Amino acid sequence: QSQELSQARIDYHSALLALQEYGTRMVCTGKMHTDRICRFDYLCYSTEAEEFVFFHSNSSFMLPNLGPRRFQPALLDLSSVEDHNTQYFNFLELPAAALKFMPKPVFVPDVTLILNRFNPDNLMHVFHDDLLPIFYTMRQYSDLDDEARLVFMEGWGEGTHFDLYRLLSSKQPLLKEQLRNFGKLMCFTKSYVGLSKMTTWYQYGFVQPQGPKANILVSGNEIRQFSSSLMEKLNITTRGGEESAAEEKDEYIVVFSRSINRLILNEAELILALAQEFQMRAVTVSLEEQTFPSIVKVISGASILVSMHGAQLVSSLFLPRGAVVVELFPFAVNPEQYTPYKTLASLPGMDLQYVAWRNMVEENSVSYPERPWEQGGIAHLDKEEQEHILASKEVPRHLCCRNPEWLYRIYQDTIVDIPSLLEALRATVKTRLNLKKAKPASTVHPGQVREPQCQTSVQATNEAKLTVSWQIPWNLKYLKVREVKYEVWIQEQGENTYMPYILPHQNYTFSENIKPFTTYLVWVRCIFNKNLLGPFADVLTCRT
Ligand code: UDP
Repeated sequence: QSQELSQARIDYHSALLALQEYGTRMVCTGKMHTDRICRFDYLCYSTEAEEFVFFHSNSSFMLPNLGPRRFQPALLDLSSVEDHNTQYFNFLELPAAALKFMPKPVFVPDVTLILNRFNPDNLMHVFHDDLLPIFYTMRQYSDLDDEARLVFMEGWGEGTHFDLYRLLSSKQPLLKEQLRNFGKLMCFTKSYVGLSKMTTWYQYGFVQPQGPKANILVSGNEIRQFSSSLMEKLNITTRGGEESAAEEKDEYIVVFSRSINRLILNEAELILALAQEFQMRAVTVSLEEQTFPSIVKVISGASILVSMHGAQLVSSLFLPRGAVVVELFPFAVNPEQYTPYKTLASLPGMDLQYVAWRNMVEENSVSYPERPWEQGGIAHLDKEEQEHILASKEVPRHLCCRNPEWLYRIYQDTIVDIPSLLEALRATVKTRLNLKKAKPASTVHPGQVREPQCQTSVQATNEAKLTVSWQIPWNLKYLKVREVKYEVWIQEQGENTYMPYILPHQNYTFSENIKPFTTYLVWVRCIFNKNLLGPFADVLTCRT
């Protein structure tokens, strides 16, 4: 690797002079440590101190210049998990003059993205916390291109899925432990620190019980652009887009099985029953038996994906549009409280259907009280606490990550009651065929209506009319829209309620509820196909 950071590509002497003269320079985006990404020239890292170093010189700068607020609690989150206190980034400061007394710096010539992976051994965390955020952080900053260098500072080894991280750039990612091979002081010529959180949809329950993020900013389109890009790099071709998929005769079901824990105990029977019920082939995949790319290939052509709750279900981001995700939950685990995969499948434009099934029969469950705590064992707990857990029929809401009752229940094996599963599936799988033929919904929103106007007239002391008219949004004349409607809100000035109307044409005369000698505020907006809302035009003030 040391040859890879070939010092020949930059003039060592001039790099050193630049560092001594200009020091470190930093400019960041974001108001808070939780939404900040920083760009640096000559950010250095001491492998001895295991600290990043900012060298001050006469021409260095640091924006935001937070003073000691930089430590409250940190400059930024180094992983995409929000405000996690083990994932903070900061740097130490030194005058550039101190370089004279320090080990000779080794310069990294590549544009580098520095970050923490959150949990690289768990597939859900790999995709949700790392791969998607890295992918879109790289698209945010155009110099983070295919030649960019990724540096993972969380301190883990490569982990089970390192090959996936390798797909993001043509350069080998570097781990924290490898940095010392390069020398005592490394200086990144150009680097970005931190990750975009724009694509994350789930919070794992560190401060409140787990659930979808409050303000999801990603849609199925961005997820699918990412999965297509990954599949392209893996040389996986889908069989010709949605249209041929709808006519595809060779439909099949994939059961993603876990072979170490949280087992489906009657898997063979389940596969037979699914194949028979839906008249399709059914195949199994598992991380223990296949390479991940071969699994992606199978999933990318599947009509139905069935799996126990677990990280392997994040692979549904490779399913074709219209497919059904079936998530199985062990006894006493309420599907509504663990929804990372439901949320993914339900993102607008993801165009997947989602069905949860839960084992309601305790006798169909096999638990492992004697196992170590992290695999759901409870033998280490007080007798009383054990009995309480054994008697409970549903895990109460809890925080991450060591709740023994949750771990005990989620690591149970399950005999799936086949009639109840098929029952839960039938309706969804039937409607799927219709859905698959439908084109993906358009996401072009209307513009503002133009030239909104109002005219008023008084008929009698208790009778008045209000006519509102407007022109179509500018973008409509270039679009084929199935249904165009307008929404008009009318509010009497000073009141705090309004009357909403949905109208088919570009003008309307209101006479009901319109009083003479009264001022009305009127808002108009356009709606495409029932649910694509445009912005309101500027409010009209209309006096009768
Ligand atoms: N895993 C697996 N087979 C198993 C158990 C786990 O492939 O029998 C994978 C799982 O998909 C995840 C990782 O191992 O990527 C860690 O699994 P764990 O049960 O800790 O997490 P969970 O799946 O509940 O998120």
